[in-house]
Amino acid sequence: MFQSLAIRHGATIRDRTEVAEMKRDGIDIIRVSTADGRQFRGNKCVLTVGAWSRKLIKEITGLELPIQPLHALVWYWKIKDGFEASMSTAGGFPTFAFFGEPQLYGTPSMEFPGLIKISLVSGWPCDPDRRDWTIGGGDESAVKRQAADCIELVMPGRIETARGSVMTQACMYSMTPDEDYVIDFLGGEFGKDVVVAGGFSGHGFKMGPLVGRILSEMAIDGEAETAVRIGVDMKVFGMGRFEENPKGNV
Ligand SMILES: Cc1cc2nc3c(=O)[nH]c(=O)nc-3n(C[C@H](O)[C@H](O)[C@H](O)COP(=O)(O)OP(=O)(O)OC[C@H]3O[C@@H](n4cnc5c(N)ncnc54)[C@H](O)[C@@H]3O)c2cc1C
Repeated sequence: MFQSLAIRHGATIRDRTEVAEMKRDGIDIIRVSTADGRQFRGNKCVLTVGAWSRKLIKEITGLELPIQPLHALVWYWKIKDGFEASMSTAGGFPTFAFFGEPQLYGTPSMEFPGLIKISLVSGWPCDPDRRDWTIGGGDESAVKRQAADCIELVMPGRIETARGSVMTQACMYSMTPDEDYVIDFLGGEFGKDVVVAGGFSGHGFKMGPLVGRILSEMAIDGEAETAVRIGVDMKVFGMGRFEENPKGNV
């Protein structure tokens, strides 16, 4: 949906195009080179490379941001007979989060009838280019047991936890120490011409439209007018917070 809307507003999307390098090329020009040898020039650039943020920004500027890629697992569990309807979207079951130890989240039964997605907000540190794509690290079973115990605590008797999850998918988080986003100008020789957004720490998708608006304002106007209007201090998301305190906003 977002891509279709962007195209309708004049964007050109070049999928499967890896940015390998970014350099300043004159006073107003940023030159981006791709892994397959193409070059793009523009006055401004917005970098949003998710779990690759730390790697790419280090290559470009030498600056190492504390954005840790984590290999995460998403589990689907079988709902016990008789509870399927009440745990579905139609049955009004909510998206939920349990902020205990461990942290658990889930969505109503929706994409696979009879199954429900419930996972832990955690993962294993990884290199996004050398990820072990086999589902689960060596200690998956221990972590899954922890999740099963937590599910029984939160919603006893509704999920087939004894049998374990029935389906697993792999995903990546890009975590900052304070789990707050990084949204800032890259600075240095790039000044305000390059804007960076990353480290969305497992809660970035829902803010996509707002963050997109803020990024476009930062790139075009040099400041996020929307953030000012809604009373958000963008310093909370600045890269400088880690210089003052390695744990950022904690
Ligand atoms: C299991 C799981 C559950 C989640 N649940 C939620 C939720 O309930 N709510 C919520 O709001 N968020 C959730 N999130 C988080 C959300 O998905 C992320 O915060 C969001 O997708 C981050 O967006 P992004 O644009 O920063 O990164 P991404 O969506 O990862 O996009 C980065 C893009 O950059 C590309 N890229 C990388 N390097 C290069 C390069 N050199 N050149 C060109 N392109 C490059 C990548 O291929 C990728 O397409 C969840 C994440 C996970 C893993």
